[in-house]
Amino acid sequence: MIAPAMTDPATTKNLAQRLLAGDRRALARAISLVEDDRPEGWALVREVYPHTGAAAVVGFTGPPGVGKSTLIGALTKLRREAGRTVGVLSIDPSSPFTQGALLGDRIRLSDHYLDRGVFIRSMANRGALGGLSEAALQAALLLDAAGREDVFVETVGVGQAEIDIIDHADTIVLVLMPGSGDSVQALKAGVMEIPDIIVINKADHPLTDTMVREIRGVLSLANLDRSPAEAAASWRVPIVKVEAAHGTGVPKLIDCLDEHRAHILAAGQLDERRRRNLRGEVLAIATARIRRRLEAELGRDAEFQRLLDEVVARRLDPASAATVLLERAGE
Ligand code: GDP
Repeated sequence: MIAPAMTDPATTKNLAQRLLAGDRRALARAISLVEDDRPEGWALVREVYPHTGAAAVVGFTGPPGVGKSTLIGALTKLRREAGRTVGVLSIDPSSPFTQGALLGDRIRLSDHYLDRGVFIRSMANRGALGGLSEAALQAALLLDAAGREDVFVETVGVGQAEIDIIDHADTIVLVLMPGSGDSVQALKAGVMEIPDIIVINKADHPLTDTMVREIRGVLSLANLDRSPAEAAASWRVPIVKVEAAHGTGVPKLIDCLDEHRAHILAAGQLDERRRRNLRGEVLAIATARIRRRLEAELGRDAEFQRLLDEVVARRLDPASAATVLLERAGE
């Protein structure tokens, strides 16, 4: 799938220029490079990174089947009608497939395939440096650099990977549908962080209003932790009822997205949020690199095998072995 090595800086520069000019083929190739953890991909991100930061990145999370893809399709339609360019990343850590195979299935954006203003990409799990989450962030940066004004990141499945990716969004939307009681419980228990916007899709269901009330209850409990001044200045999480399949309520969601962006910009929170997210990113990449380096060194290290034998024989506890290991690694 990938052409032969392209480590030449001039080639990277050329690809970077095409990408910055919004060339779709350059963008597709660039994302493949980061997805495959190729050094050229990282070189490219390094080159274009100063040109990122303009896109409004919105992350969508929620249980499978609630209608995230359908909703992204409906939002994309409205954003395009308003003349904005859109990039969509669908992240599916559980899928054994690679990008192309998933597209028709996961992202219900068939109306948008021929639209040059829409770029859609699915990413599945990779053994890349730092994992899928890192590759996904790099891909989002590339979409940003290529001038996509709206970047929608959809995560599928549950687990840590999903949370990591969603952390990099400027606005986080939790999508639920009547009957997603588990998610409401997770919010209540504090297992799931309170998102910026909650969407209840398939809102023609008779239990929709019951669910809205339940969620309001959870949100007001979360607000009890705040001082009155904090509560007044803080963002009030809207609960938006939509029917993504018919586009009902989607304009209201667009308003909420725009209001949230205006709010975080006015309050200086966007920079703060991005700083926190980027800190996490730098740490995640550094951690992955240290782990990779340690594993590579240890694989052929007799000393480590002896250390492990000691642990197995219960003469040395795992934490002490780790201390010895790190002391040696630091030499
Ligand atoms: P995802 O897994 O969260 O991305 O969900 P999908 O977008 O794939 O949607 C799951 C199913 O719900 C599909 O069969 C959709 O057609 C359906 N669906 C999406 N939106 C609505 C809606 O507003 N009402 C109803 N009744 N079904 C919907």
